[in-house]
Amino acid sequence: MAFHLSLNQLAQLLSLQDNGDISFSPDSLVSGINTDSRSIESGQAFLALKGDNFNGHDFIDMAIEKGAATLIVDQPVSVNSSSNIPVFLVHNTLETYQQLAHWWRNQFTIPVIAITGSVGKTTTKELIASVLATQGKVHKTLANYNNEIGVPKTLLELDETHNSAVIEMGMRGRGEIALLAQITRPTIAVITNVGTAHIGRLGSEAAIAEAKCELLAESPSSSIAVLNYDHPLLTETAKRVWQGETITYGFSGGDIVGELLDLTTLRVNGLDFNLPLSGRHHALNFMAALAVAKILGIDWTSLQEGIKVNLPSGRAKRYQLATDILLLDETYNAGLESMLAALDLLKATPGQRHIAVLGTMKELGSFSEQLHRQVGERVQKLGIDRLFVLVDDPEAKFIAEAATAVDCECFQTHADLINRLKEVIDFGDRILCKASHSVGLNRVVEELIQ
Ligand code: ATP
Ligand code: MG
Repeated sequence: MAFHLSLNQLAQLLSLQDNGDISFSPDSLVSGINTDSRSIESGQAFLALKGDNFNGHDFIDMAIEKGAATLIVDQPVSVNSSSNIPVFLVHNTLETYQQLAHWWRNQFTIPVIAITGSVGKTTTKELIASVLATQGKVHKTLANYNNEIGVPKTLLELDETHNSAVIEMGMRGRGEIALLAQITRPTIAVITNVGTAHIGRLGSEAAIAEAKCELLAESPSSSIAVLNYDHPLLTETAKRVWQGETITYGFSGGDIVGELLDLTTLRVNGLDFNLPLSGRHHALNFMAALAVAKILGIDWTSLQEGIKVNLPSGRAKRYQLATDILLLDETYNAGLESMLAALDLLKATPGQRHIAVLGTMKELGSFSEQLHRQVGERVQKLGIDRLFVLVDDPEAKFIAEAATAVDCECFQTHADLINRLKEVIDFGDRILCKASHSVGLNRVVEELIQ
């Protein structure tokens, strides 16, 4: 059964009484917690959240009209007494949402796998979910709902048909992963890596490592940690906060040591695995999934032939254009580590010419210039044949400045970039498009694949 509890249980859980003078029948069931008044179904509780651009309390009438069984609010609301709906006035509805998600998650004894890290969370979540799907029904984070609202939402959607849950956890600053871990109480805690995403906010990689390791610090001591061994800063930081069982994976050592035979073949313990996604970075993500499989007793040989994984758009998408032209679409997002990984993959992909079409990596604060220069240096070091940079933002020009030995062109607009690419692209080209999401390089991809 999906989320349900009686009004009496709800009142007890929230240490509240119905605050109106409407009496409620204590045994009536609440059959879901919904924060979106447009999709309320009869019997659900409407929980009013406040965001920067909206206030759920403005939509109470719609929620009632659609059949909400009860209201959970944190500011007084006027409700027509004829609606006879119980109203729970709480201190903070977001905290209540998280509290209810935690309570509901605790009704389940299934494996709950939490994933954080600077890059590769969604990819690793999908890989782990695919591995677990060989055994039963998996509940997983949809899209990128990995924050203080998305994680509770995901947990509240657990039901008794699920055999496991895979929960992605994102962060922008300290304390956020700790909260998500407390709510989720994972049985397995995966940290994919520590990089420079959000370094503008956190100030150093050491601070990022500490923030990621909040996942371990706040997980039950019976949980098992799965850590990328190739990031010493991660394993060392983890040791300071985590004394529980740990499985490490990597290319340089650890409990699960991989060897990449080619872009899509990984050898571990004498077994060869067909990788669903090309490249060294995706092989690492796959090893995290192997670690989870090992913990849960899933036979690795059943995973050798290839598990299917379907990533949301703009991540590791490959388009075969006419006349042997391959386009790697990585336009969903970009940070230093994923830029370097994608450039390495581009170069390792056999073809006539290798072309990088790059744009800004956002949210890097005072580290921005230095990190954009590192991208340009890698382009040059790899011997990428041509570099096209969309300088929608002055930061992107540092990529070009650091790659002076490369045949490079900069563009102010998407249209100019697209027109030039259409002139240049030729038989045998391998093209990578990558930038932060807001740069909109997906528009370039859309034009090219038409
Ligand atoms: P977000 O913070 O937006 O949720 P995420 O951590 O979920 O990101 P993904 O969406 O899985 O990360 O991948 C983002 C980008 O990073 C993609 O371009 C992907 O190819 C690349 N990537 C995935 N895994 C790794 C890895 N282990 N190392 C470097 N880059 C990676
Ligand atoms: Mg993600």
